Amino acid sequence: MILIIASPRHSSGIRYPCNTLFVLEDLSGVRHVTEQVLRKYRYVSVSWAFYDLEQKLKYKAALAGQEVINVPAPYTSQRCPKCGHVRKSNRNKHTHVFCCKSCGYTSNDDRAAAINLYNAGKKYLGEKLSRDNEVPGTVICRQAGR
Ligand SMILES: [Zn+2]
Repeated sequence: MILIIASPRHSSGIRYPCNTLFVLEDLSGVRHVTEQVLRKYRYVSVSWAFYDLEQKLKYKAALAGQEVINVPAPYTSQRCPKCGHVRKSNRNKHTHVFCCKSCGYTSNDDRAAAINLYNAGKKYLGEKLSRDNEVPGTVICRQAGR
């Protein structure tokens, strides 16, 4: 799954501005998982080239001053975006319904996964902002006796 977090400022003629963050699930192990798909569904499930798509996106994003990050794929579709509870049975793959067994949050399973990627992107941006605001070489001192 790919989630795009774009700045609200859009330049004319540019679909995604330079502040865009693309959040990708790390799909490096997805081939193993999709090989377990029934043969009649295999073409649709595994026929696209994950690695090729990621490389093209990273190349184009770098040219446009955009950023691409990978987040771990495990549990993205099983984690409740509201309370964080992880359980395989939260997600029904056949009906595409996500229903949290802990808090009852219910949504489309792809939507729940997208919210989890969005939250991962926001966390990344928050950590990046903290790093960017650090003054290099800063040492925090405490005076004795106070
Ligand atoms: Zn929940």
